[in-house]
Amino acid sequence: MKSLLRNIRIFVVVFTVLFALFITGVIAQSNRARTTWLESAGEDKAALKSRYKMAGEIITADDVILAGRDEQGNRRYAANDVLAEAALHLVGDYTHNITNTLESLWQDHLLGSGRPFLTQLKLDLSGKGLEGDDLLLTVRSDLMIEAARALKGKRGAVAIMNYRTGEVYALVSKPSVAPENVIAWKNIPDTALFNRALLGRYVPGSTFKIVTATAFLNQREYPHDLKVTCRGKKALMPGGVFERYMKSTHGTPGLEKAFATSCNHYFGHIGLLLGAQPLKEAAKALAFNTEFSLDRLKVAPSVCDIGHEDDAAITWAAIGQPGGKDRVSVTPLHLAMIASAIANGGVMRQPYIVEATRTPMGEIREIDHDATITILDRLVTDKMSDMMRSVVTDGTGKKANIKGIDIRGKTGTANVEDEDGKMVTNNLFAGFIADEKTPFAIGIVLEDSRSGTAPAVAGTLLRYAVGKVR
Ligand SMILES: [Zn+2]
Repeated sequence: MKSLLRNIRIFVVVFTVLFALFITGVIAQSNRARTTWLESAGEDKAALKSRYKMAGEIITADDVILAGRDEQGNRRYAANDVLAEAALHLVGDYTHNITNTLESLWQDHLLGSGRPFLTQLKLDLSGKGLEGDDLLLTVRSDLMIEAARALKGKRGAVAIMNYRTGEVYALVSKPSVAPENVIAWKNIPDTALFNRALLGRYVPGSTFKIVTATAFLNQREYPHDLKVTCRGKKALMPGGVFERYMKSTHGTPGLEKAFATSCNHYFGHIGLLLGAQPLKEAAKALAFNTEFSLDRLKVAPSVCDIGHEDDAAITWAAIGQPGGKDRVSVTPLHLAMIASAIANGGVMRQPYIVEATRTPMGEIREIDHDATITILDRLVTDKMSDMMRSVVTDGTGKKANIKGIDIRGKTGTANVEDEDGKMVTNNLFAGFIADEKTPFAIGIVLEDSRSGTAPAVAGTLLRYAVGKVR
């Protein structure tokens, strides 16, 4: 009898506790439903502000908060102003005034909606049911800040990634603005909300000679030790390429020297020998005309749509400066990926930025990123890697040459019309460090900038990265 009474007492206590927990869960869930309803009602700004009070944090690989909350529980962005601006295009704003961002596209995780039932129940019972998941990123705050400083006062973008794993360490687009301005929708400089790193479609200029050179190395019809006489300012053929930036000539270089000095006559000549189709195939093998994203963030596909014009136009397309109906474009992130493929023995990894999510209980969920975008012939990419070293030691990329670091790359200058119809010269660089311990690749575009500025920025940033990321 005694033991029966005791069992009943235990049963009542256990039942009461479970019932209390269940009611807590129900209240939490109904709160969620209410705020979700408010939020979906035309993305009301006040509702979003209240909803994001419980949102998860966005945290860099070196543990710096890019998005979190202040003492009052309001959504706040990076405490460091330079970092907050540098990360704007990536992180976004809780009002969703810009949309190709983590705040917008990872909203389900950040706000904790759409969790599996049992996960949600467990969180409700622990009283953390309304909190969202944190996003743990691959980007590093120190590199983001350094990249932003290197781009200060310029228009352009830089992407730095690990070519072995695909982790993106830095992605910065300038001009930018403080997240508070975006939320308040005031004092936003012209084009400051445009994410150039992912969506900027740039004329590649001589960085496209990477494509032309791989197309040439892919074939056996013409000898790889072919030499071509450079005629300087004199056009290769009527309407064809010439040397825009030098008074003399490159002499009679072979492939390696022509690549290092970026000889337009050489690459115009081999473009003509090959024709449009092999160039397009080599471009495709380097992920031009290919859809890919950066986790959930949209990336503009790079385009190689050539062969619509005459032979003279082929010589221009071969040096990355297409004319007429021919079109070639590349994004700064894709420039880093092209360098990555050359650096990584021909394997272009899928770049990514969100390493894992973390529940309010502290459970870390790694995201599977083991994906490859394209694979090239290793014999060709190893040869390209050597040629890209010559660019930095003896050619147009000398400003990227840092003592003690094996930096390789290809420079580009592209003449384009800016928004006002004025002709400007963009400066580009695609490069990497040939070292197992620091497998970093970089892509840079600087609008309306002098020749040599992009390789100089690449050298500065890669040297900085070597000191920081080990
Ligand atoms: Zn030349």
